[in-house]
Amino acid sequence: MDLIGKVLAGATLSRQEWLSVISDRASYPDARLRSIASSIRDSIYGRKVFIRGLVEFTSFCRNDCYYCGLRRSNSRAERYRLSAEEILSACINGYSIGLRTFVLQGGEDMYWDDGRLTALVREIREACPDAAITLSVGERSEDSYRKLRQSGADRYLLRHETADAVHYSKLHPLSMSFQNRLECLRTLKRLGFQTGAGMMVGSPFSSEDTLASDMAFLQDLRPEMVGIGPFIPHRDTPFRDEMMGSVSLTLRMLSIVRIALPSALIPSTTALATASSDGQIDGLDAGANVIMPNITPSTERRKYLLYDNKKISEEEAGENIAWIIEKLRMAGYEGSLERGDHVQAIADIPHS
Ligand code: SF4
Repeated sequence: MDLIGKVLAGATLSRQEWLSVISDRASYPDARLRSIASSIRDSIYGRKVFIRGLVEFTSFCRNDCYYCGLRRSNSRAERYRLSAEEILSACINGYSIGLRTFVLQGGEDMYWDDGRLTALVREIREACPDAAITLSVGERSEDSYRKLRQSGADRYLLRHETADAVHYSKLHPLSMSFQNRLECLRTLKRLGFQTGAGMMVGSPFSSEDTLASDMAFLQDLRPEMVGIGPFIPHRDTPFRDEMMGSVSLTLRMLSIVRIALPSALIPSTTALATASSDGQIDGLDAGANVIMPNITPSTERRKYLLYDNKKISEEEAGENIAWIIEKLRMAGYEGSLERGDHVQAIADIPHS
């Protein structure tokens, strides 16, 4: 039995074994990985692609990640912060067109303390009772995560970016702790969030070896969601002259993640769509099953720039759900506005 056979039989692979899967293209060609990954996805979720409404609600951030256009040292970034009313109204508009998941994403903006953020989550919960609320607001204390969970947040995205400690230290300033990031992810899982981890592919100093560490970490953590996108340099960061990550390696990794975590919710990311014109559909063909159109008010949408040339297409924004569903249909997928919970999370909901 080869290594993919072992994974499919439920085995945990070592880092070295993951390295073989990633690097041995003769034994594990892209086409084979893609075909296995999409059959696994189809057997669990069918051809459904879950459509989430993304609200990028603050571009302020206290951190200084070397790869990110929102880093605090970037004095050229145009900063904005939506008010609670604007965020709520974006969700209510999204709800009225049928969206049942909202992803509230922002930098680590200390204005959004626990009091403000929990109040906002409660208001969204009240206005959109059957919608899933996903937060993506970085590292916080266990107490803060608990309060957010209790106020009604269902899911939390926190990409680990790399599971190799030395690599992490080359992408982040000393003030940021690799251990704390991993600990945050474990805490989120423990508190019952459907938890999302994920990494950039092709970031500076990365290698197939660091990706193997990512796979070993993901197989151990078993997050419900995994976000994977190619590294794309931003001109106002220390990595401005670095090469963009490979789209084909990103797609290969996406298939490998689907095989390792069969029921994961995996977005076909905006970074993929930015890196290649067919990137979003290619991501779905590689095994993804989520897309996150932007429902941020259009005046602010262009200011949330994690990397250069971010794809900001009005056609593919939340206002144009019918067009998005049609595009998915033409590619052989069924766009779904439902909550789209992780299958295990649905199984865990007590039935009376
Ligand atoms: S990656 Fe996130 S935490 Fe880091 S600077 Fe950008 S917004 Fe802030």
